[in-house]
Amino acid sequence: MYTSFFDVFSIGIGPSSSHTMGPMRVAARFVADVQAAGKLAAVCSVKVDLFGSLALTGEGHGTPSAVVYGLLGLEAETMDLNHNFVEEVQQQKQLTLGGAHTIPFDMQADITLQKDTFLPQHANGMRCRALDARGTHLADEVYFSIGGGAVRRADEMNTTPQNPRPVPFDFNSCNELVALCRQHKISIAELVRRNEAALCPAPVLKARLRRVIATMQQAVERGIATGGTLPGELRLSRRAPQIYARLEDQFHRNATDALTIIDWINLWAFAVAEENAAGGRVVTAPTMGSAGVLPAVLRYYERYGCKEGPTDVDAGMETFLLTASAICSLYRANASISGAEVGCQGEVGVACSMAAAGLTAAMGGTIEQVENAAEIAMEHNLGLTCDPICGLVQVPCIERNAIGAVKAVNAARLAMRGDGSHYVSLDSVIATMDETGRALQSGYRETALAGLARNAFTC
Ligand code: SF4
Repeated sequence: MYTSFFDVFSIGIGPSSSHTMGPMRVAARFVADVQAAGKLAAVCSVKVDLFGSLALTGEGHGTPSAVVYGLLGLEAETMDLNHNFVEEVQQQKQLTLGGAHTIPFDMQADITLQKDTFLPQHANGMRCRALDARGTHLADEVYFSIGGGAVRRADEMNTTPQNPRPVPFDFNSCNELVALCRQHKISIAELVRRNEAALCPAPVLKARLRRVIATMQQAVERGIATGGTLPGELRLSRRAPQIYARLEDQFHRNATDALTIIDWINLWAFAVAEENAAGGRVVTAPTMGSAGVLPAVLRYYERYGCKEGPTDVDAGMETFLLTASAICSLYRANASISGAEVGCQGEVGVACSMAAAGLTAAMGGTIEQVENAAEIAMEHNLGLTCDPICGLVQVPCIERNAIGAVKAVNAARLAMRGDGSHYVSLDSVIATMDETGRALQSGYRETALAGLARNAFTC
């Protein structure tokens, strides 16, 4: 099942696509549905219950705030990040549903964290209810945030969402993807471009590509320029400005060494991951917890990798992202990109695989080398657990983005030094990743109940 570029790369606010963006979209969709049913004016209260992983790590991931944003009808891509909507709601004890109908609202009482209950369909469950003056339910729906900001209502969980129009090159496996490219003598990026042409006019795709690239670059710049402490009880200092200052100093003293390039990749990944942790605007790639990997590798391509491939850097960056999008599509169809389902393999692991494939394609690699790079990158992330300390997307997440970015560059370089032949296929690695993730005890799947979250710090 082909996932569109537009669904792979969403622009939103951190720190988590499944725990921030997804719940925000659920709340907004619930209010829109109530409004469409003509019941909004009768609503006197709204109750939202968060289940499973959403409840266990919701506070650290900013889920209650995201629910408020969604109920207010705000859009993650465009909302004003300087306006403190949550403080306003908390002070006034009321909110305006969808910007149209004001009700009393007490965040503490009206949003509950059901930490002991996991709904059977997915670890990230959410129930929304709208009640009238007599306490009668006007609407009562269960939704799931399934990863990367995507959401489903309970009755949609067993159905495969369809693209609005058929695409010319649908694929369910990497074998099929490679066969289509060979048959039509096109690259993976070109295949994605032609699929997208069936879904939207070419200028719309072009504009989206530029916007995604610009948002990634702006997140790098903001992250480098912003110091201080990240939100949450760890009181973690932002490190990107410090790393940048040291790199600049080394440069001016002519004291760089052959591995300084790794420091730069680390810096770019830190900058975006810290922006995300602070609730800044980033791109899901494939999630927000892993949002630092692709921008860091993209910048590596812009500064260094482009010297090894075709010289049009802008075109190379588009090839990078379009290829990465196809690789993400494979993970979404055959495994998961949700840390709550398959651990961090599904987040930083998938980001690493996407980035390795994108970089290889941009550097002029063959289809076989692109598959090889994606496969190497995931193969060495297999078993990676999700254990965020205090439920914050900070430790180990920020460093993990940097390690994932460097690993992606290494995977691409390994693939480019070979002829594309490889023993393990990407399809086999994706199947292994899915099987491994689902075999992990739930403590290691975004619950903050095991691993580093249990041993490294008492929250
Ligand atoms: S450990 Fe990985 S999957 Fe878990 S919250 Fe952090 S980045 Fe996301």
